[in-house]
Amino acid sequence: MKFFHVVSIDECKEIVKNNLPKSAYLSVEKPIAEAVGCVLSEDVVSPDVFPPYTRSTVDGYAVRAEDVYCCGASTPAFLKRKGKVLMGETPDCSVGVGEAVAIPTGGVMPAGANAVVMIETTESLGEEIAVYSPVKRGENTVLRGEEIQIGDVVAKRGEKVSPLSVGVFAAVGVEKVNVFDKIKVAVLSTGDELVDVGDRAENGKIRDVNTSLLTAALLSSGYEVVSARRIKDEEETLRNTLFGMLKTADWILVSGGSSIGAKDLAEKVLSEGEVLLHGLALKPGKPTIVAKFGDKTVFGLPGNPFAALCVFQSVCHSVVAESRGEKRPSLRAYAGSNFPSSPGRTTLQPVRVAFDGEKYVATPVFLKSAHLYSAMTANGYVELAEKAEGVYQGEEMIVYPFIGKDLL
Ligand code: AMP
Ligand code: MG
Repeated sequence: MKFFHVVSIDECKEIVKNNLPKSAYLSVEKPIAEAVGCVLSEDVVSPDVFPPYTRSTVDGYAVRAEDVYCCGASTPAFLKRKGKVLMGETPDCSVGVGEAVAIPTGGVMPAGANAVVMIETTESLGEEIAVYSPVKRGENTVLRGEEIQIGDVVAKRGEKVSPLSVGVFAAVGVEKVNVFDKIKVAVLSTGDELVDVGDRAENGKIRDVNTSLLTAALLSSGYEVVSARRIKDEEETLRNTLFGMLKTADWILVSGGSSIGAKDLAEKVLSEGEVLLHGLALKPGKPTIVAKFGDKTVFGLPGNPFAALCVFQSVCHSVVAESRGEKRPSLRAYAGSNFPSSPGRTTLQPVRVAFDGEKYVATPVFLKSAHLYSAMTANGYVELAEKAEGVYQGEEMIVYPFIGKDLL
């Protein structure tokens, strides 16, 4: 492998895809509430109907709509009161012509009734009730199976399980679902200049951002972080830590030390495996290395935190997400100004998105190399293609959210 023979993002993704760990495709069964945030590896098929029976949506009286069609505020309909529906039980009475059965919210509709009059529109007159407002057939009720039928696919492979999907699974009697297993990842940040987050950034030292940033990116997108460490630029320490991590991790994200320089050791140590690529046509993210150690993949990410995140998101995670059929959230927006691009490299350009009353407009947020906060204040980013000569004001573009973040 030639040093810094830069490959395109698509070639890079193909290489990563061909070397994905088995766990990327493995399925595990999880109790529904524990599956939240995981990606479904199979469609979820409903074993039941929902709602399970026709129910009232209000407190009132189950009636025949025909019996109250013509009533009004000054011309009430009088109905014979007949028993009541108890919560959690099948009604033991039915509704005949001119009859009404008291029913609570969620109660099972008794036979013969086809609507419910709200308690607020009625008056109790001993044996009878007066109804002051008409209802249509089906009013104030939900029908058995009106939302979900047996055999309906209620969630698809590739969908992320949300609290609402967990609620739907519970409603139709699905106790467990199959989701993709978590890929085990170790995070290793290198640099003599790095200090812990709780330490002072002075005398040439800076706080270690990547250990926290990459751990957070992994946790927010369904990976298991098996270890996360910061080390000095020492060859032996890097080698020992890396080989130690290889015992438990499927992937290792090494950051820092990947550009060409006296103390840049990642290339040296990663070369002890099989280097699959060194140099990525991505801005930011050029000094990226991908190496294989047996069936494990080690990513040498750029030290620059924003660049490290971009490579993790656009290469590592994007390959996993695509292989699992995950939908990529995006938004169509119009360029609010001209967007310069870098010929020969895919540029990830952070943008701020605003709604101008008719459409979304994206304007670039320019980051200097060591900047990070400006990226945090952006809504997302656009991918400017390798060959495009930038984007002109008014052109349509697709905005993607940063990993773990909502677009708007
Ligand atoms: P390197 O890839 O080691 O040449 O690092 C490139 C730039 O990223 C340098 O300015 C480093 O100080 C910075 N950098 C590397 N690792 C980290 C980290 N873990 N946290 C914050 N900045 C880092
Ligand atoms: Mg360094």
